[in-house]
Amino acid sequence: MTELVISEVFGPTFQGEGPSAGRRAGFVRVGRCPLSCSWCDTAYTWDWDRFDPAVELHKRTVDDLLAEVDAMDVDMVVVTGGEPLAQRAGLSALARGMRDRGMRIEVETSGVIAPMPDVVALVDQWNVSPKLANSGMDLTRRIAPDALAAFVATGRAIFKFVVVDPADLDEVAELVDEHRLRPVWVMPEGTDAATIADRLRPLAEPVLERGWHLTPRLHVLVWGDRRGV
Ligand code: SF4
Repeated sequence: MTELVISEVFGPTFQGEGPSAGRRAGFVRVGRCPLSCSWCDTAYTWDWDRFDPAVELHKRTVDDLLAEVDAMDVDMVVVTGGEPLAQRAGLSALARGMRDRGMRIEVETSGVIAPMPDVVALVDQWNVSPKLANSGMDLTRRIAPDALAAFVATGRAIFKFVVVDPADLDEVAELVDEHRLRPVWVMPEGTDAATIADRLRPLAEPVLERGWHLTPRLHVLVWGDRRGV
């Protein structure tokens, strides 16, 4: 029986970010991540200096996860992390089960691991979030050109950049041009409503001028940094 290492399952709630922001959805958050971004708001999925994996992570079967999502009365599931693509077999089985139920599937990823062909066919939207220098990660760890090319080739990827202030937008433009990433969504970094609002305002005009999209973090505006919503 296929299993995944899971951090949390929650919903119904709203997709908080990107093109589907505001849409009712269930969330499956997997554990573990190959990156370690300085501002990560889900460090409980991977930072074992600060959190205890025995407390935070649980092995769950795909059937068990599907049953929990079934009870949410949702037609869309967001698989997030951590890094979903680090658990290839589990993600594949989970996506197949969701597709069998007629659910829309979005997968959120940092874009450092290429999607497997069998999963590409099952996922409606890849929310790919390549990390900028503001993450504290070295370029060679946070940008994987072949993996980004594979996401572009799906034709179903959006590229969402976490930005601290407008000075980050030139770096976004360089990555977008070099790797032909479209469409582009810019999202402010922050885990409280005041920070999100303060950072959205100066981003609005320059993001419009560059022809990109802007997204809030709806769940943070509504619930702050509470887990499981
Ligand atoms: S890629 Fe995402 S989950 Fe992983 S450390 Fe960075 S922000 Fe956190």
